[in-house]
Amino acid sequence: MAFFDDVKKLGKNVAEKGKEAIEITKLNSQIGGEKDKMKEMFAKIGEQVFMSFKSGTDHGFGEWCVQLQEMEAKIDELKNKIMEIKDSSKCPSCGSEVSKEIAFCPKCGGKVN
Ligand SMILES: [Zn+2]
Repeated sequence: MAFFDDVKKLGKNVAEKGKEAIEITKLNSQIGGEKDKMKEMFAKIGEQVFMSFKSGTDHGFGEWCVQLQEMEAKIDELKNKIMEIKDSSKCPSCGSEVSKEIAFCPKCGGKVN
């Protein structure tokens, strides 16, 4: 008879179970929100560790920082490819992207080509 007892209990609590489910969903989304904030904070911590690695302080994550530097180098390489396609170059003074056809950087006025 345990089954029928369970069914009766279930019927009686159906509204309550619905409320519980809504409450659990709310709480889970709050948990998700906190986890997202934690991820942001982890990223900030990681960035700080990487920045201080680049300025000479190794917090014991040297190997990962070296990997990050490789990724940065890869990004630079890819950016250069884009600039080649767009036929533009980089200002040697301020680093902004400039057309190959102009002689002076529009941002800093430095000589480009
Ligand atoms: Zn410039």
